[in-house]
Amino acid sequence: MDFFDLHTHSFYSDGFLSPEDLIKKAKTFGFKKISLTDHNTIKGVDQAIDFGKKYGVQVIPGVEIYTHYKEFHLHILGYNFDYNNKDLLKTLSNLQKEKISSLKKLIALLKEKKWEINEKEIFSSPSSYPGIGIVASTLLKGKNFERVKKEVKIRPGQIFGISDLISFYYQSYFSLCPEAEISSEQAIELIHQAKGKAVLAHPGQQLSRKHWFIVKELKEKGLDGLEAISGHHSWEKQDYWQRIAKEFNLFITAGSDYHGDLPKQWGLPINTLWQYFRFSLERFKDMPL
Ligand SMILES: [Zn+2]
Ligand SMILES: [Zn+2]
Repeated sequence: MDFFDLHTHSFYSDGFLSPEDLIKKAKTFGFKKISLTDHNTIKGVDQAIDFGKKYGVQVIPGVEIYTHYKEFHLHILGYNFDYNNKDLLKTLSNLQKEKISSLKKLIALLKEKKWEINEKEIFSSPSSYPGIGIVASTLLKGKNFERVKKEVKIRPGQIFGISDLISFYYQSYFSLCPEAEISSEQAIELIHQAKGKAVLAHPGQQLSRKHWFIVKELKEKGLDGLEAISGHHSWEKQDYWQRIAKEFNLFITAGSDYHGDLPKQWGLPINTLWQYFRFSLERFKDMPL
């Protein structure tokens, strides 16, 4: 079958790879089609399309917008929109500014706690929506990493990311450095204005089963699709959210949410996300996605 992945990140948001390396890697994993869906930015889309042509991988323009709806923080994916649309670009750039000011607060706190932080390096990275990956790379370097190794005891095999590290020392990363968001309705409208399709990302990550009605309400507000097949979903969740998508006439998409391979120091197995995701796609190969 032709493998595809409609949810990936590059270093223009919190992914680890450049668009070129992402495309090359996708090709080695056998993906024929991918969408680059960076958080609140479309800076890498042009490059991804160009490298896609070079390496023979079809690239669909995409974005993942942080949103809120009622008490939920939902991620809305946009696909195939006009990425020169002024309203969309303006909104994304406002979200970036907001995020950078909350990141600056986090950096100030880390400096106060005597971590070695090279602010210049952080802000000279290509990311236009700097997040957890950027902070991770500084806390896991040099003296900082020596301190982490001494103070934090990580059990072998334990999944321990940078947000856990910050929570270990202070409080939740997300309360220290909240994501800048717009409302889910606004995101759907913006994507439609730019002639794109709006899809709710990994519903099983933010919603429990009993919150299926949120999907119904968003459909009434114009949502087009549901990412029922996700790298964040167990197979059981994939089945459940597909049923919900069918019930409310939403098209089903599949995306891994690949951010690149995590640094070796984190002690995690490598490449598992794309491997898992490929199994998920094979499982659904008879379904029209
Ligand atoms: Zn997401
Ligand atoms: Zn994502």
